[in-house]
Amino acid sequence: MRIAVLDRGKCKFGTCGYACIKVCPGVKMREETIVRGADGYPVISEELCSGCGLCAKKCPFGAIKIVNLPGESGKPFFQYGPNTFRLYGCLLPKEKSVVGVVGVNAIGKTTALEILRGALRPNFGGYAEKPSWDEIRNEVRGQEIVNYLRALEEKKFRVAHKMQYVEELARSRKKLGEALEECDERGAAGKIAEELELTNSLSRKLPELSGGELQRAAIACTMLRDADAYFFDEPSSYLDVRQRLLVAKRIRALAEEKSVVVVEHDLAVLDYMSDYVQVLYGVRGVYGKISALKGTRVGINEFLDGYLRDENVRFRDYAIKFDVKGAAASAGRTGAVALSYNDLR
Ligand code: SF4
Ligand code: SF4
Repeated sequence: MRIAVLDRGKCKFGTCGYACIKVCPGVKMREETIVRGADGYPVISEELCSGCGLCAKKCPFGAIKIVNLPGESGKPFFQYGPNTFRLYGCLLPKEKSVVGVVGVNAIGKTTALEILRGALRPNFGGYAEKPSWDEIRNEVRGQEIVNYLRALEEKKFRVAHKMQYVEELARSRKKLGEALEECDERGAAGKIAEELELTNSLSRKLPELSGGELQRAAIACTMLRDADAYFFDEPSSYLDVRQRLLVAKRIRALAEEKSVVVVEHDLAVLDYMSDYVQVLYGVRGVYGKISALKGTRVGINEFLDGYLRDENVRFRDYAIKFDVKGAAASAGRTGAVALSYNDLR
């Protein structure tokens, strides 16, 4: 099993004489391993490809990635199109709980959230045609996600989503107070503005707000929706440590009644607010896999170790370790003193 991904932004097929096609051993044996697509871009058949990697090496623009997967991976949960990124597995929202999601960038976290909020429909690799809900139900029969997808299909379930790129909010000329009023389906605009320390900014226009204010504005707008599930994509970006804690407390409070899923890079914040963790791993921009639900500590520790115990998968060949610096750690330090001060007064 292998994945071939073509980066169309890098491929300049008009200038290279299709070096990838010329070098492919499959093509030399008259197989259609790589062909010119109708729009000129090469199309790689993952079924015929042997995974030798020669095309990726020969491409002068580094436009091809060939990744051999360890063992059979089954159908992806979602794939955008031919020779594109694909995602295996899905996120699992839990009632009255926060599910934290951790993984490196470009590994499918935002795609997984888009599926949860119904903006993308699971297609199990069949990207050519949008699958019907009957087909989707068949594919996920017996899996934990089936009830969630059914509720989404029957529109019995409302979701609110905090986008990743909060800068988009600044395109509006509205004042912050007006924007919050517009989102407010719970009659809580004043309370949430106060809790997120936005009260003094209510009369300012959105483009005048700092990154941290825009982030808290986007979080407030999401919390003001009357939904069954709330999704937050990187709520800590632009925030200082104190503001991160403020937001984490609000998210925890929300989960007393609702389902919450949070994609977060700050592991301390993730640890504080999550009841469960799902780890995403794979190859950036090529494929992502979503782990089973894990207890928070277990999930974070396995992410740091690069090894998922239940899945028996090592996804990184080194562990991430943090050095503790401080008085205790520096006790007994030896070596030349580079600079010293007189007594401070
Ligand atoms: S992938 Fe590389 S070698 Fe193949 S057509 Fe595009 S630019 Fe040329
Ligand atoms: S990896 Fe090898 S077999 Fe597969 S498309 Fe590239 S050159 Fe052909």
